[in-house]
Amino acid sequence: MPVGIGYDVHRLVAGRPLVLGGITIPAAKGLLGHSDADALTHAIIDALLGAASLGDIGQHFPDTDPQYAGRCSLDLLAAAYQLVREQGYAVQNIDATVIAEQPKLSPFIISMRQTLARTLDLDLEQISVKATTNEGLGCLGRGEGIAALAVCQIEKRTD
Ligand code: MG
Repeated sequence: MPVGIGYDVHRLVAGRPLVLGGITIPAAKGLLGHSDADALTHAIIDALLGAASLGDIGQHFPDTDPQYAGRCSLDLLAAAYQLVREQGYAVQNIDATVIAEQPKLSPFIISMRQTLARTLDLDLEQISVKATTNEGLGCLGRGEGIAALAVCQIEKRTD
């Protein structure tokens, strides 16, 4: 069964909402980017596209295109999944890790999983989201940004 890997990182800045996995999380800073800068959803999109050898998020949703400015990344995820489905695949499972020094993400994990599962029409057990810190090391450890990693396994649909 094909698998894909995705990685994303965005810078934290004042005056932006913090959106991860489609959930707006109360925080002093938010992620900077062209869309809503949802690094978790972006990593999942790249894992999904990668599993089907369909390129990457930048090719399909360029950050130079005004139609994606401020856009909810869940819309991009749904569009990416449509491309994968057109190749005859369905998602088997997704596993993701968010690397954030703060805020504490554990209270929001279930909402992220529910939102991502709803967007991809998956069961909750098919989508895993975890969070860790960078133990104070490097730029992520200094809280300059938030990163996310994701893997996705797909399978040929039988319907
Ligand atoms: Mg991104």
